Amino acid sequence: MRRDILVSEVGPRDGLQSIKSIMPLEAKNAWVSALAASGLREIEVGSFVPAKVLPQLADTAEVVAHALTIPNLTVAVLVPNLRGAEAALRSGAHKLTIPFSASETHSLKNVRRTHAQMFEEVRGIVALLRSQPVERRPLLEGGLSTAFGCTYEGHVPADHVVRLAEQLCDLGCDEIGLADSVGYANPAQIRDLVVRVRAVTGIDRFAGLHLHNTRGLGLANVVAGLEVGVDTFDSSMAGIGGCPFAPGATGNIVTEDLVYMLEAMGLNTGVNLGKLLEAREVLAAAVPNEELYGYVPAAGLPLGSRA
Ligand code: ZN
Repeated sequence: MRRDILVSEVGPRDGLQSIKSIMPLEAKNAWVSALAASGLREIEVGSFVPAKVLPQLADTAEVVAHALTIPNLTVAVLVPNLRGAEAALRSGAHKLTIPFSASETHSLKNVRRTHAQMFEEVRGIVALLRSQPVERRPLLEGGLSTAFGCTYEGHVPADHVVRLAEQLCDLGCDEIGLADSVGYANPAQIRDLVVRVRAVTGIDRFAGLHLHNTRGLGLANVVAGLEVGVDTFDSSMAGIGGCPFAPGATGNIVTEDLVYMLEAMGLNTGVNLGKLLEAREVLAAAVPNEELYGYVPAAGLPLGSRA
């Protein structure tokens, strides 16, 4: 039995929010379909933020509606606040992630809220979701961003992140994830913080790692996560993405390279690399002016590769 790893594709959200091009709805839907056809089982398809903040994601409700027609796909969205959660609930998305910056300065820049205000948003969202019938209640993840460092504050103490994880659990988040939004993490830090955070969330409520490749340590950080038992990783096709409110933060880890590495290591992602590269063609055609990243797409598969 090969160990299963969930690769959660965040390109349609994290990727598209950070590039200049606005992908038309039809192209987004075609891309999401192609991503799912490659075997990806979870896709974050958008974010419920005001269109004036992120015009690239203004059609998130429509993309969710399309994604919900794809069998066996977990349709995830980002919600920065209660209003976003209300829209997400109306859309029928399966999973909501509320980003919670461990760095309060980043929180103010990213969602213009202090930690105290963010706790209020989480309380409101939990109450909203719990008012729904169980069978229609989406999962809520608290995504602790800038958990490994912050472009504004620099070092983010691990104790602080652990305390926030505990507070978000207590408030009623179903899962807690750790995000290196700005590419500050290193493998030793990944091992240490995952173990410490999981000690307060429990294994079942630890959602996984969201990593960026800003300083080239993305896949090394994945391996560090694997070593301490992490089995869910966010990545973005072609490494598009970043954080528009964190200067210098570019590029999620590349889905194609991640899948290649995991499969080459004998782990099971359920993703077909050939079909994944076909989905990349759909993306390339839709945003011809954007730079696409990835080593495996450039180099091709090694001779005799089983991936
Ligand atoms: Zn990100």
